[in-house]
Amino acid sequence: MSKPKLYLTRILPEEVMDYISTKFELRFNMENRIATREELIEGIKWCDALLCLLSDKIDAELLSLNPNLKCVSNYAVGYNNIDVAAATRLGIAVCNTPGVLTESTADLAWALMFAVARRIAEGDAFTRAGLFEGWAPKLMQGYDVFGSTLGVIGAGRIGSAVARRASGFNMRVLYFNRSKKKIDNCEATQVGLDYLLKESDFISLNIPYTSETHHIINEKELSLMKRNAIIINTARGACINEVALVEALRKGLIAGAGLDVYEHEPEIMPELLTMQNVVLLPHIGSATYKTRKVMGLLAVENILDVLSGRIPQAIVNNEVLAKIN
Ligand code: NAP
Repeated sequence: MSKPKLYLTRILPEEVMDYISTKFELRFNMENRIATREELIEGIKWCDALLCLLSDKIDAELLSLNPNLKCVSNYAVGYNNIDVAAATRLGIAVCNTPGVLTESTADLAWALMFAVARRIAEGDAFTRAGLFEGWAPKLMQGYDVFGSTLGVIGAGRIGSAVARRASGFNMRVLYFNRSKKKIDNCEATQVGLDYLLKESDFISLNIPYTSETHHIINEKELSLMKRNAIIINTARGACINEVALVEALRKGLIAGAGLDVYEHEPEIMPELLTMQNVVLLPHIGSATYKTRKVMGLLAVENILDVLSGRIPQAIVNNEVLAKIN
């Protein structure tokens, strides 16, 4: 029996590539860069299923190119890069990788919290530059994490995991979320967004990017925050108005920011690159060896399930399954 055709937009970890090659007739972008639109067009026209990344914009035009395309499997939990409404209209299943990257991403949010509060990146650069001349009372003072207030915006899988870690640091935890959540092993209080912004020392964004959450942190929201507040974004860049963030940091309205994602990724506002109270990472929330492998295997299983008429572990538009098989 012939194998189904898979187009993969970028090389994945080796174990995932090995598994894929046993299951599919494979074409993939062999360069270590984001696939071009021309490559996406060619790949999509040819395949039964597409395995893509959050950096691939899969719009209605691309989805319409191939009536045999059955599944778009995103190597990410966020799927704002895919026109899900168009896929649903066209009977194409859209899958993602929820759950398997939760703890790694929550760890990274915490790493950013500490890095900004305790000036880790700045201190490292200072020391390597040979500027350390011995212990000094006012050298690199920062902010306490222990005993402070954490505000989580979006208390889903990752937001809850971020909140849970706070119990180890004796923190008060507030969260803003559409529905009420019971977070295991964490006493967290659901509050309105404005209250969370006014009360929190650390604010972690863990909300998906949608039309409702576009610029959920804007000029007004930044103005409500404490002067010592540190904002952490491991969600999606455009949840924050980056221009307003730069302005708030420049004016000292907040104390710092830890960013893994950017509004116009991979471009970053040049001002951010010059600010000492900002820690910048290249979108590596889920980037551990283990997690990137498990994400890949889940993304592949999702496709195999769709193509063989099973209900995939993680599908975003369930309603298309009846149409596919
Ligand atoms: P999730 O479990 O779906 O959690 C999202 C939470 O946000 C849910 O609790 C949801 O509330 C809430 N929410 C959604 N829209 C809202 C709104 N308009 N107002 C208030 N609350 C709203 O998702 P997750 O797995 O935690 O992932 C969250 C996001 O993190 C992803 O979408 C992705 O963009 C990002 N992410 C980034 C990285 C990285 O590498 N930096 C890695 C993984 C994920 P309800 O439960 O009431 O719907």
